[in-house]
Amino acid sequence: MNRGTLEDRELGFGRVLINFRLNTGGEMWRIEKSRKQFFVDCGNPEENFWKTLFEQSGHQNLIEGDKYSEFLAWKPDRSNCPELDIAAKNLLESAPVEWMATMRNIFVARSFKGDVNAEASSFRGAGIIELNYGFTLAAMIYSTLFSHFYDAIRAAGREVDWNYDDTAVTEMIVEELERAAFEPIEVTDREVQTWAANRHVVATHPLQIELPKQRTQGEHHNLVLAIEEFAIGHEYCHHMLGHTDSAFRHTQAARGAVTDWLDRIGWSNLTSALNEDQVEELEADVGSFLLLSGVLSDNVSRSRIYRAVGGSMIGLVALSHANDTWLSGGESHPDFLTRYEVMHRLIKKLVMDMPIGVSDDHPMGFLIQIRGFISAILQTRASNTGGDFKKPNFLNVFSWMIDQEVEFKEELKSKE
Ligand SMILES: [Zn+2]
Repeated sequence: MNRGTLEDRELGFGRVLINFRLNTGGEMWRIEKSRKQFFVDCGNPEENFWKTLFEQSGHQNLIEGDKYSEFLAWKPDRSNCPELDIAAKNLLESAPVEWMATMRNIFVARSFKGDVNAEASSFRGAGIIELNYGFTLAAMIYSTLFSHFYDAIRAAGREVDWNYDDTAVTEMIVEELERAAFEPIEVTDREVQTWAANRHVVATHPLQIELPKQRTQGEHHNLVLAIEEFAIGHEYCHHMLGHTDSAFRHTQAARGAVTDWLDRIGWSNLTSALNEDQVEELEADVGSFLLLSGVLSDNVSRSRIYRAVGGSMIGLVALSHANDTWLSGGESHPDFLTRYEVMHRLIKKLVMDMPIGVSDDHPMGFLIQIRGFISAILQTRASNTGGDFKKPNFLNVFSWMIDQEVEFKEELKSKE
């Protein structure tokens, strides 16, 4: 930034000067302005997103009945949607103190328009984050797919007796588990191109909607919310890291914190082929993970780490599927594998020092489950695009995951 201010800072009054200069550049955001700007732009009435959606989709009966009246009467303040209001509050709780005032003045909106993605925009006095509803639909579908996969793997680990003599029975069980884990992935994979071409996500198969028996709606909603928080956190970071025209005073410190982590995971070998926009995407991914997990505010907790792992990884998968960016992210975004690799390295760096939990759990165990899930998705994608790729095989994926667990536990032991 300003080279001349370094000396000023050393004299003790540089900070005021820096702030003053920045404030003249961009106008401070105000939530009233941010909210107003969003509703003026989209042309919708200033009301609960769901009321607008019910109206526009011809469900007048839902609006007039008593059942949802209280919910629909909810008034937008910092968001147009009650659920995203919760997501924004959660993010605020794990944010550094110096970020809070600016974050509070950003309006977080659900919207129909635009790509199946999220975006951050700024105008004079207004900061906005928009999350496309199609992204949330993809997040819901992928959370359901992961539940099917997770439960099948869990059953293979805990309920199958691998020493049982009757191999025919074991084979039948494995076949059933394979179907339970991979069929939802298969039916969803067939929709990659349709979703991307129509820029519209829609669930067309019961396996994309129905949860396995053991899974509660509460767990499912919590994972979907964590994915939304990762996406919103990513957009907050575009604002806070100065990728948009914000008047945030601590942009340089925020960038420093994020770049520091990127350096620690040796990201330079991943970025040589990327342009500036693509690098900013990786910064926002990493920033969002650090925000969600509480690292930036020195407020790390086990549950925050778990939510950040699930939210980031499954969020990136849903995004890649909805836009068909597995292999190429286009001009503005890196491809899935690059974003995945950065997150994987970051998570490993952050959690390897954590002890195994009381129920023999560890964030790395969760990460290995998600990686098994992702490898099944990528194999399915490859096998459906022609060429000589085989469908994923349940026992191969399962034994790969066991190997990863063993490797991880040995690495953890060697650190003790
Ligand atoms: Zn972005």
